[in-house]
Amino acid sequence: MTYLRKNIAEMAGYVPGFQPENEAEWIKLNTNENPYPPSPKVREAILAELGSDGGNLRKYPDAASREFRRVAAELYGFDADWVISANGSDELLNNLIRACAGEGEEIAYVHPSYSYYATLAAIQGAKVKTFGLTEAGRIADFPARYPGKIFFLTSPNAPLGIAFDKAYIRELAGRCAGILVVDEAYADFAEENALELVRECRNVVVTRTLSKSYSLAGMRLGLAVARPEMIAALDKIRDHYHLDRLALVAASAALRDQNYLREMVAKICSTRGRFAAVLESLGYQVLDSCANYVFAAPPDRDGKRVYEALFQRRILVRHFSDPLLAHGLRISIGTDEEMDQALAALREIG
Ligand code: PMP
Repeated sequence: MTYLRKNIAEMAGYVPGFQPENEAEWIKLNTNENPYPPSPKVREAILAELGSDGGNLRKYPDAASREFRRVAAELYGFDADWVISANGSDELLNNLIRACAGEGEEIAYVHPSYSYYATLAAIQGAKVKTFGLTEAGRIADFPARYPGKIFFLTSPNAPLGIAFDKAYIRELAGRCAGILVVDEAYADFAEENALELVRECRNVVVTRTLSKSYSLAGMRLGLAVARPEMIAALDKIRDHYHLDRLALVAASAALRDQNYLREMVAKICSTRGRFAAVLESLGYQVLDSCANYVFAAPPDRDGKRVYEALFQRRILVRHFSDPLLAHGLRISIGTDEEMDQALAALREIG
């Protein structure tokens, strides 16, 4: 006898990348964190909010995240009612499924991409369909009319790093009966994004995170841009105080410091180029990446062997047991020094 709903009893939970307890002893290149601190303005804003005695923490945070939304809306060129804040973009993915896909209804995503969509669908009791990728980086066998409630398109793709161009995303949106959620967790590292399509196509929703490019994974901040009707629905179903006071001031300060963002993104992309070139010279096959990680396969195409050898040297990268990915590794881009250490280890491992 179980008290649980059948789908909860039977589902496997999502397993995030390995988190060592003593982080300082590891080179951690497995969860696409940013190796640099957030903008100094973030620290200042948090300290100002804390004040001398933390007294502000007595009070509930702004339930509507008004400042954060205003700053994000201005940055992306939308009215504030087209933007919603979130406790990490994971919260938005969850609430989009809760809002749009009932029990037994179907959602779809690209395989390989972010496997959390499947976990969220399982919680909701929604059915899942996956579409593969062609050699040319298109969605394989995508129908003229996809009837499901949601199609999640991760662009840039995780873990592959490839991005979809705007014209192609527009075409996909036209073929979806339900919503097309463009998960742009890594879009700040790419040249193109789908924000413009939110205005153009009725069914496009774009989700973003401050975990990667803004270096705020530890504060749990995300946002979505969508039509006001969709934003209003997402507002109805979220926890009312979903962002704490420190996260809210951190979010606005980070978004306002675009110079810092550009500087960090340029630095990471430059390290990525250098790292990828050296990896290739070691015989690795490296996919062109528009994100803060690369997907790379060693010459013997045994990703697990290299993962384990790196693990023994306290270097963490991501290996997926999925047959489509097991030949390679997803390696997050750290500092130049960290990547040099990773390269030295890879040379040794062979
Ligand atoms: N989407 C993708 C593709 C991701 O890789 C991640 C990070 N694991 C997320 C969404 C969620 O990011 P967060 O909840 O930290 O905003």
